[in-house]
Amino acid sequence: MADVSAAVAILGDLGRENVPIGPLTTYRVGGAARVFVEADTIDDLLCVAEAVRASGLELLCIGRGSNLLISDVGFNGIAVVMGEGLAAIDIEAGPTVVVGAATPLPVLARRTVQEGLVGLEWAVGVPGSVGGAVRMNAGGHGADIAGSLVDCVVLDADSGIVATREPGDLDLRFRGSNISSRQIVVSARFAVADGDRATGEATLREIVRWRRENQPGGQNAGSVFVNPFDGKDSAGRLIDELDLKGMRVGSAHVSTKHANFIQADEGGSADDVRELMARVVERVADEFDIHLRSEIRLIGFEKETQS
Ligand SMILES: Cc1cc2nc3c(=O)[nH]c(=O)nc-3n(C[C@H](O)[C@H](O)[C@H](O)COP(=O)(O)OP(=O)(O)OC[C@H]3O[C@@H](n4cnc5c(N)ncnc54)[C@H](O)[C@@H]3O)c2cc1C
Repeated sequence: MADVSAAVAILGDLGRENVPIGPLTTYRVGGAARVFVEADTIDDLLCVAEAVRASGLELLCIGRGSNLLISDVGFNGIAVVMGEGLAAIDIEAGPTVVVGAATPLPVLARRTVQEGLVGLEWAVGVPGSVGGAVRMNAGGHGADIAGSLVDCVVLDADSGIVATREPGDLDLRFRGSNISSRQIVVSARFAVADGDRATGEATLREIVRWRRENQPGGQNAGSVFVNPFDGKDSAGRLIDELDLKGMRVGSAHVSTKHANFIQADEGGSADDVRELMARVVERVADEFDIHLRSEIRLIGFEKETQS
């Protein structure tokens, strides 16, 4: 039986109760976390881990919330958002770059290019944090986290141990890894190369232009479904072929610009997004005998995914 009061006692001033977390996601729908922490230091994270162990509550790490859908009833556990204190960028000889988990990927991409370092330009188009990106093995434009990750520091909430983990130990795969929902990425180190700043800046501009042209704005979490067959087929293509663009459930609809995006209306409902996802999965399964898997992590629904 989960013991909220044990968590609250351990967290002290660090913890707040019943804080809306839907607004911290790019979907901007969904409810509150039973307990909420903004962590700025590793000590804050260690305290969260202790509260998780003592209370028996579930843990939810929130980066930039760009791959999360929080249900309308919210999350009955401890949600921890990575604060500014965990967003340092340090460039080292090698060259490598050591980055705090809270660092937004576009900031990392721009900063490295500014320093004449290349290899992470692709990240300018992905609106996540470094921590979320490592867990998801985020990628785009022919590159991904696995391609440049040297190692990362991970706190295991169950043991309280902070350890450096190498890519071979993370089972990095297409939009996934073996980092569990009870483990927190604290920082990551990436290999970069010396390069030409002007060329890097041109690449950034091209990626941003491509994103604007091909992806919708508004309230969404990017691609909803993992491209099947290890990314070799396209979920968007399957949905498009079924003519599902524009399909609507209440306050959610399949984007008319990109079939693998589902948009939420302002003031909309996460449950509508979830229901629309289920209907798309059903149609694709009926027609193509392919079961689309959610890329978005669903929180607080009856059946959650652990992307
Ligand atoms: C418009 C748009 C375009 C996108 N395009 C792409 C794309 O091209 N390629 C791509 O890969 N993704 C894309 N995404 C999805 C998303 O940006 C990535 O998956 C990103 O890596 C998620 O990072 P986040 O910080 O937002 O994670 P969140 O959404 O906050 O969390 C995602 C998962 O990571 C976990 N997590 C977050 N932080 C940590 C941490 N510090 N330690 C451990 N676990 C953590 C969460 O618990 C959750 O399981 C897009 C999203 C949007 C909205």
